[in-house]
Amino acid sequence: MISIVKELWRYRLDVVFPRSCVHCGGLPEGGRLRHLCPACERMLFVVGPPHCTTCGHPFYGETEVNRLCPHCEALEPKFGEGKTAILLKGPGRSLVHALKYHHGLHVLEDIAVLMATAPGYAEYLHDAVLVPVPLHPRKLRERRYNQSLLLAQCCAQAAAGRAAVGELLCRVVDTESQTHYDRATRQENLKNAFALAPGASINPVQRYLLVDDVFTTGSTLNACAAVLRRAGVLNLDVVTFGHG
Ligand SMILES: [Zn+2]
Ligand SMILES: [Zn+2]
Repeated sequence: MISIVKELWRYRLDVVFPRSCVHCGGLPEGGRLRHLCPACERMLFVVGPPHCTTCGHPFYGETEVNRLCPHCEALEPKFGEGKTAILLKGPGRSLVHALKYHHGLHVLEDIAVLMATAPGYAEYLHDAVLVPVPLHPRKLRERRYNQSLLLAQCCAQAAAGRAAVGELLCRVVDTESQTHYDRATRQENLKNAFALAPGASINPVQRYLLVDDVFTTGSTLNACAAVLRRAGVLNLDVVTFGHG
């Protein structure tokens, strides 16, 4: 937990630890999580195999092997594989929303526990440089923290020292302030939204893992992946905490 607390301190954030379930408001006692009660934890959809090898979305019983899911068929991913820990449903959605929209940074300790115990998740992180999807400086000023960076710290913790965070990317176009553009224009702008961070250097034999909070369409991760590919990254996968 120490690295995450340090990270929060870096942003001068007030860390408060309210002890109520972020999903139902009940008392989170008797379970292994501090901010979801045992009943809500049982409703969490933790992803295990078989799942889509691109986005991590689980397949329900009909297949033995990992393959591409219908959501990803049109994506043309610029990365190799993808993995996720939970589905963004019910309590899983509440955890992510607490983190992203309600300054609920206390849920990071539960997220780190879930990352460390989701099937195959920690092993997937081993020996990688974890590259968080960056926020535009305007958005960073508004939210005061980049949730993807904090989740990359959680990943490093779940990997127990076998992965390190590298802030190699920056966001040069504020795609969120372009809501007046049509979808096609915004997609086009997203392609140019990211760049290599000043001073970032790439080691061609290193494995890199892009980290984002949630896998939805994959277009943001793909835009980041394109920048790393152009910079010479050969071994590139993605990881998210949630899918939905
Ligand atoms: Zn609950
Ligand atoms: Zn998929």
